[in-house]
Amino acid sequence: GTEASDTDTASADAATAGAASQPLLRVEDLQKSYGDETVLRGISFDLDKRDVEVIIGPSGSGKSTMLRCVNRLTEFQGGAIYLDGESVMAMNDNDLRRRVGMVFQDINLFAHLTALQNVTLGLRKVRGMGKEAAREKAMDQLDRVGLASQADSYPAELSGGQKQRVGIARALAMDPELLLFDEPTSALDPELVGEVLEVMRDLAEGGMTMLVVTHEMGFARRAASSLMFLDEGRIVERGPPEQLFDDPEHDRTAEFLQRLT
Ligand code: ADP
Ligand code: MG
Repeated sequence: GTEASDTDTASADAATAGAASQPLLRVEDLQKSYGDETVLRGISFDLDKRDVEVIIGPSGSGKSTMLRCVNRLTEFQGGAIYLDGESVMAMNDNDLRRRVGMVFQDINLFAHLTALQNVTLGLRKVRGMGKEAAREKAMDQLDRVGLASQADSYPAELSGGQKQRVGIARALAMDPELLLFDEPTSALDPELVGEVLEVMRDLAEGGMTMLVVTHEMGFARRAASSLMFLDEGRIVERGPPEQLFDDPEHDRTAEFLQRLT
C-alpha cells in the first residue's frame, strides 16, 4: 500500500542525501547501575527519523531507566547516546529539554496553572519566547490534541485523559525531534485510554519520532515501526511488531506477549 511506497521513497532519499542517513537516535552499549544493582547491561539500537519504537518488558526490566538516560534525567556509567550525531552528555540542559520531549505516566501538570499556562511555561522559560507568541503557539498545540476549548481550565477541572493530552501538547510545543513516552496511559481509567492513544497515533502518522513504553499492544500493532522486548536490562528481541507477535524468536518474548494480549 501507500505506507510501503512512502518508506521506499524515504530510504531512496536518505541514500541520495548520503550524510542524512545518520540515525536520529543512537544508543550504544548503554550501561547503568544504581549502586551495586546493574539495571542496563549494554543496550544498543538506532532509531531513524519518523520511527516509532515501542518498548515492552516486565516491571523492573529497565524501561524507565533507559528513557531517563536518553534525556539525561539520570546519569549512566557506560556507553553513549547520540541525538543526530551529537552526544547527549555534551549538550546543555536547555538544548536537550527542547530537543527531547517526555510524557510521563503520572501526569505532572502544575495545579495552579491553566492548561494554556502549563503549555506556555516551557516556551517562555526554555525557549525564551515572548508572551503573545508563546500563547499563540500553545493554543496551536492544544488544538492539535483536541483541547483548544479547555485552554483556560485548571488541571482539577480536566479528566485524566485530558490532562495527559495537555502533557503531550506541552511536550509538542517545544518542537522536539524525539518524544519519549513512559506508560502514558497506565494511570488512566480504561475509558480514557483511547483518546490518548488516538493522539499518539496521529503523531506517529504525522512523522514524529517516538520511543514509547506501553502495554497497549493494539497501539504497538498499529503504530510501531519496531517493537523491543527488554528483560533484565538487555534487549531480548527487537523487530517489526508483526514478527514479535506472530513469529517471535525467543520463548521469553512469546510468553511475555501472551500475558499482555
Ligand atoms: P521498569 O520501568 O522497566 O519497570 P525501571 O527502569 O523503573 O524498570 O527500574 C529498573 C530497576 O532499577 C529496578 O530494579 C528498580 O528498582 C531500579 N531503580 C529504578 N530507579 C531507581 C532509583 N532512582 N534508585 C535506585 N534504584 C532504582
Ligand atoms: Mg517504568
